[in-house]
Amino acid sequence: MANNCIFCKIITGEIPAYKIYEDNDFLVTLDINPVNQGHSLVIPKIHFVNIFDAPEEITAKIGPIVKKLAQAIKAGVKADGLNVVINNDQAAGQLVPHAHVHLIPRFEGDGFTHWHGKGGETPADFANTQNSIKKVILSHIFQDSILLAIDS
Ligand code: AMP
Ligand code: ZN
Repeated sequence: MANNCIFCKIITGEIPAYKIYEDNDFLVTLDINPVNQGHSLVIPKIHFVNIFDAPEEITAKIGPIVKKLAQAIKAGVKADGLNVVINNDQAAGQLVPHAHVHLIPRFEGDGFTHWHGKGGETPADFANTQNSIKKVILSHIFQDSILLAIDS
């Protein structure tokens, strides 16, 4: 529970919300300003900001709950598809600093366009980017990764 966190207040019941699901670890509510009908937020009950400071025991549970709720929402509003989105940090569009996953139902012809690639990357640019990221992966994150080690 963080002071003045709007999602912590939804979890404690201080602020009302259109809840559609709740278990020990997550609360799922309709987004107050939906992109499309059924736009929902999967909110972990413990306060952390985003993917970068997420406890492992919660990240391990995100896949199953996202799948379950995505199926329910898609069927519930008869959507044609659904986007799963997490905005991490301000530069990525995160407005509420309590981690959450957006489940956004999509309808044929709903008019939303996807991100457009900037283009212009040369093979050298790709190789540089690939190496920068792989260096971090190999040295910090997955030191035992066979897949990346054999490919480096
Ligand atoms: P983000 O930019 O990923 O941080 O998205 C925050 C989302 O929270 C936005 O889509 C808001 O519409 C939504 N939101 C903010 N306040 C509430 C609230 N009280 N109940 C439900 N959704 C909310
Ligand atoms: Zn919070």
